[in-house]
This record gives sequence, structure tokens and C-alpha cells, in this order.
Amino acid sequence: MEECIAAVATPIAPAGICVIRLSGENAIEIAAKVFVPVKNQSLLELEGYRAAYGHIVDGDEPIDDAVALVFRAPNSYTGEDVVEVSCHGGMAIIDRALELFYNNGARPAQSGEFTKRAFLNDKMTLTQAEAVMDVINAQSFSSLKAANAAKKGVLYKKINQICDDITKIDGHIQAWLDYPDEDLDLVDSDDVKKNLYQVRDDLENLLNSYKLGNLIKNGVKTVIVGRPNVGKSTIMNFLSGEEKSIVTNISGTTRDIVENVIQIDGLMFVLFDTAGIRLSDDVVEKIGVERAKDKIKEADLILFVVDGSEKIQQNELEVLEYCENIPKICVLNKMDLGFVENSIDFEQFDCVVETSSKNPQTMENLKHKMISLTQLNSLDCEAPLLFNERQKLAVKKALDELKNALVAMESGFTWDAVVISIDAAIDNLLELTGENLSEHIVNEVFSKFCVGK
Ligand code: GDP
Repeated sequence: MEECIAAVATPIAPAGICVIRLSGENAIEIAAKVFVPVKNQSLLELEGYRAAYGHIVDGDEPIDDAVALVFRAPNSYTGEDVVEVSCHGGMAIIDRALELFYNNGARPAQSGEFTKRAFLNDKMTLTQAEAVMDVINAQSFSSLKAANAAKKGVLYKKINQICDDITKIDGHIQAWLDYPDEDLDLVDSDDVKKNLYQVRDDLENLLNSYKLGNLIKNGVKTVIVGRPNVGKSTIMNFLSGEEKSIVTNISGTTRDIVENVIQIDGLMFVLFDTAGIRLSDDVVEKIGVERAKDKIKEADLILFVVDGSEKIQQNELEVLEYCENIPKICVLNKMDLGFVENSIDFEQFDCVVETSSKNPQTMENLKHKMISLTQLNSLDCEAPLLFNERQKLAVKKALDELKNALVAMESGFTWDAVVISIDAAIDNLLELTGENLSEHIVNEVFSKFCVGK
């Protein structure tokens, strides 16, 4: 067991309860020096999964009343002896209690050190450890579902299956290369190619899942554009269900970008209400316009709002030049004021929705269109998804190596050349699951966690 570490596992702020976690060698002994149960039994005698009520004390001086929960190795989060002490979440209590644990032999935990130990003690794979962070950070029901699935190991199992498939092909070629005189089946290159193409497809599907995984995790960045006064802020407020943007009938009142995170059917959308792109002499509004252009560059979805009851102004359409290759909805707003024929080329949009602030049902229609356009409604959140850049990069490298192997085969290179690329693909996949990883990468992954996790 590693030396004992201690840290606050809950946010450090005044709160009803705070949990301080200790893990490692002598964790129970160290906790027993600071925590005294009300009943005479010491923490040292407590079995795993048992809790005791008592006091955190500094010698004879009581600091706070608390509950200590004991986990005994290997049946704990980290796989080591663990004690979780729940006390009141007061800053003075937290400071004092931590100091006492440190003075009695624990040291401050580094970022993600508890989960790192869980990984190093084979309690979870690297992708599962990363999923712990995603579970904590999930802001929508679908991202929680996806993170929970990864935590259960769906991504790991998928990578493992792909790895097995490649290893089988690799093993067969290797055996044939190593023992050419043995009575082994000849390597059937058509068969090998077929299997490699299958693995390539699997990896490509996984790589494609990154974009969807990202949309689920970080939300669909939706930028609302259009000239001032067409109803952007009103639509933003309808979608958000709150008064976030200031709605007035004076043009150009939303000068900065207003951001709001919402959920539609459990999916997260990050809405940006822009000032509208139009030429302006007003310095403040000009800055707003530039920011709007920057936001459009990052957008996953554009809501282009026009006043459907008025003739469109030519400069209203200029904003669309910045929106190429981004899914777009044309929102014809103010339909309660009547509809005016316009020279908008609707073909350039993925769909057109008519809305009116006087008719909430039209806003519901808009929500449905937003969901169906992202295609996230048909996505199985519990399928294996790549959730971060590290995972994407490892799959991309594995895929590139596999393609190299296929090129080598198609070009008639020797089997040795094919095997080198196949082995490199396997290495990348093992790096993804954490089975073949340098210490540097392990540290890099866990440094992104918070202290106490
Ligand atoms: P923005 O400048 O594009 O953000 O436009 P606002 O949301 O501030 O709306 C401008 C004005 O149009 C406000 O007075 C709104 O109440 C009004 N408005 C917005 N949507 C509608 C609508 O669908 N119908 C009608 N009649 N008025 C609307």
C-alpha cells in the first residue's frame, strides 16, 4: 500500500457537510488518532463498510462531531484502506481537521490521486477512470447516461474486442512467419484483408462517435443570429424559460453575447444570443458584432432569425456567409403579425420553422427541430463513445497504423511490414485503455482531475 493521502472530497466552501477522505497505508490508524467514536470501540476494530459516530479531536479539545466510515483493502474505491470522515462543512473545521490528519502521518493528496490509485490497483481501467470525471461534470441527463456507461466499461469492452480481433490476425501471421516449416494453415491474405477491413470499420465508427460524444458532453453550441429587433432575445428566453436577454423594441440592445445552458429532452444546448452582425458606428455594438463572428466559428447549430412579417433587408443575409457548413435553421419569427413573401433561398437551410412569441407551441416546434437536426435523439448514449481528445487521438493513431497495414498488403509488401503496422495499432489501443502507458501519460490524465477525487 502507498503512503496515506488525505483531502477534502467535497467542494471547499461553507456547507452542511464536508467529507474528508484518507487512503493508503495506516489510513485507519491515522484517522483513529484524530477521530474518537462515542462508543468505546476504536476505528481500528471496525470492519469494512462500517461507520462510527464520534468526534474529531485535537488532544482533549473537541473540534467537531462527525461520522467516520471505514473501508478495508481491497474493498474500497482506491483498493487501499480508506476512511471517509463526514463533518460539518465549516472552513475552520476543514482547515483544522486536515491539519490534524497531516500532523498524524497523512500527506495532502494531489489532483486525481485517489482515482489514480484506483487505476494503478486495477480497480478500473483508464477509460473508466476518465469516465469518473465525466460523471462528476455531467450537466445533462444524456451526458450522465453516457458517462455512466463508460464508467461501467462499455468503451473499454469495445476497445478490448477490437484489440482481440487484431491480436488474432497478428498471432496467426506471426506464427506462420516464426515457424514456416510447421504444418500451420497458410496465411490466407484475402482472409486477413477481410478481417483488417472489418477492424478498420470498427475503428472508424468509434472515431466518428467522438463528435457525438462531444456534443453530448459539452452541449450543442447554438448561436442565435439575425438583425436587431427580429426577436432573438425573445426566442432565447422562450428556449431558456427565463428572462436572460433583455427584450426591448430598440434596435441593438443585446450588445454583448448572452450565454445560457439549457436541456431539451435531456440533451444539453449552450445558447448564445448575439448582437446580430451588422455594420455599426457604435463602438460597443461593433465589439459585440466581432464576438458574434467568433462564436459562429465554434457553432454546432445556427438559428438564423428573421422577422417573417417584414420584407427582408439585403444586409440581413450577409451573416450567412460566416455560417457555411454549419447546420442551420431559418426561424421565421413574428408570424402572428402576418407573413410577407421574401426572397430568401430556403434551400441553404436544413429546415425552416415558423414561430411567434404569442404562440408557445411554435417554440416547442423549434425545440423539436433543434433536436432532430443534431441527430442526437437517435443516438444510443450507452453505446461506446469517445469522450475526450486523448481517446480520440489514440483511436486515430491506431486507425492510421491499420490503414498502413492494409496499404502494405495491397502493395505486396512482406508480411513483416504488415505485422509492424498491426503491432503499432495494438500498442495505441492498449495505451487508450491504460494497459500500455508511460508514467508521463498517467500523470497527465490524472492532473486534469480535482484534488480529493
Ligand atoms: P432582438 O433584438 O432580435 O433580440 O429582438 P427582441 O427579442 O429584443 O424583440 C424585439 C421586439 O419584438 C420586442 O418588443 C419583442 O417583444 C417583439 N417580439 C419578439 N418576438 C415577437 C413575435 O413573435 N411577435 C410579436 N408580435 N412581437 C415579437
